[in-house]
Amino acid sequence: MSDEFDRYSRHALLKVIGSTGNEKIRSARVLVTGIGALGSLISILLARAGVGFLRLVDKDAPEMSNLHRQILYNERDVLVGSPKAEAARANLLTMASNVEIDAVNIEIDRNNIDLLLDGVDVVVDALDNSETRFIVNDAILDRKIPYIFGGVVETMGNVMTIVPGKTPCLRCLWPDPSHVLGHARASTVGVLSSVASLVASIQVTETFKVLMGDLESIIHGIMVVDIWKNQFHVVPIIPTPECLCAKIASQPSGG
Ligand SMILES: [Zn+2]
Repeated sequence: MSDEFDRYSRHALLKVIGSTGNEKIRSARVLVTGIGALGSLISILLARAGVGFLRLVDKDAPEMSNLHRQILYNERDVLVGSPKAEAARANLLTMASNVEIDAVNIEIDRNNIDLLLDGVDVVVDALDNSETRFIVNDAILDRKIPYIFGGVVETMGNVMTIVPGKTPCLRCLWPDPSHVLGHARASTVGVLSSVASLVASIQVTETFKVLMGDLESIIHGIMVVDIWKNQFHVVPIIPTPECLCAKIASQPSGG
């Protein structure tokens, strides 16, 4: 068979993916918001799986203190000082030259989010701040694009899969956004490299489920892990009746 068939054959053999699933992955267009610790492994796994189009957005440059967990970059990238978007694109193309990569060196805001979402099937969250996550949350609800939220700090992580019209959203999880604005960050309390890779892997798995159309299998609620304490829980999220996501769910065409 073709080189491409061989390349993705171990996914083709899987009951949950198969050849048809590989075709869905090849035609998928995915936005990864942030290419730090989570975004590194997310973009590597998606590119290597053969996702047709990846849009990566980040405004920072790689620093030496990133390298223990941001596995997409190397020491040379830090020395050169080019933006993460540029380094990410170059490094990903050495792994998967057949993937179209749109690397965008900007900070996500309310003015550019619609353009970034243009033509995208799924959004995978790899941001490091809640303010921007709410901007993305509101925009994906408006456009009915599934959104895989993920976050890590210390030895803990969260994953929540948001499917507009079917699941609660980040505003249901945090009805008062001001409560989460002061959440601890890796830059102040640290983050274990392995929990970032774990959470990124779960997010990529959720992305595959969404791309396969297997919404039965997604995380229903928020997955809460502490990799040091060996704790894995899924906590149900109650939809907020007056939330924007509830209004979308009640629309007759929301299918
Ligand atoms: Zn909501």
